[in-house]
Amino acid sequence: MMLRNKKKLLLVVASLVALSCVLTLWQVSRSRTFQFFGELIPRVNTSQKVVALTFDDGPVPGPTSKILAILELEHVRATFFVTGAELQAHMPEGKRIVEAGHELGNHSFSHQRMLLVTPSFVRQEIESTDSLIRETGYQGPITFRPPYGKKLFALPYYLWKTGRKSVTWDVEPDSFPDIASDANKISDFVLSKTQPGSIIILHVMYQSRVESMKAVKKIIEGLKAKGYSFKTVSELIMLTGENQ
Ligand SMILES: [Zn+2]
Repeated sequence: MMLRNKKKLLLVVASLVALSCVLTLWQVSRSRTFQFFGELIPRVNTSQKVVALTFDDGPVPGPTSKILAILELEHVRATFFVTGAELQAHMPEGKRIVEAGHELGNHSFSHQRMLLVTPSFVRQEIESTDSLIRETGYQGPITFRPPYGKKLFALPYYLWKTGRKSVTWDVEPDSFPDIASDANKISDFVLSKTQPGSIIILHVMYQSRVESMKAVKKIIEGLKAKGYSFKTVSELIMLTGENQ
């Protein structure tokens, strides 16, 4: 009888340990600030009033023209995390982004959640997208942003091994449906959360994100009024460690 109870207890303890392992892995997979290999950059430590504006996904023909026009009018350079598949389908849009002086980042080829993926899948996703980015004529540094911010083992390991930087964000208005559905709420959110060294993520490439597109001008003008200037992600990262 005693032995059976002991076995039961062991089983319960083992289950709890397994459950807490799974929960920990899940937390790490969605963390914006930590990954198992290499650094994950959600923002840069600086007292300078500088920020990076980043746009995820695409490029897609119509919205690319729209966002480029806004940025040109405001004299702001931004960073576009493009997917390989969309860039391959819309290479002229990719080239236009580069010709306008913006930075291109790698957002994977197929935009899948990179959780339980093999090393060869990761390599293919990253290398093919980097090659397409170079095809646009872009010559600057290429950082990587995981689709949905998700990563676990193979992805950060490959990025770390190949000396690539992983970039997330610290200001994300699009992740809250109540805010994402209203351009004014989006810009208010960004203006209240942004601090020196912030990396702001916005999605403007799809029709469903029309409110985010509408918010861009207000965000830029609001941040300028607060004394902020804009850098690309790589320029912002170069400030790391500088004593202001
Ligand atoms: Zn994305």
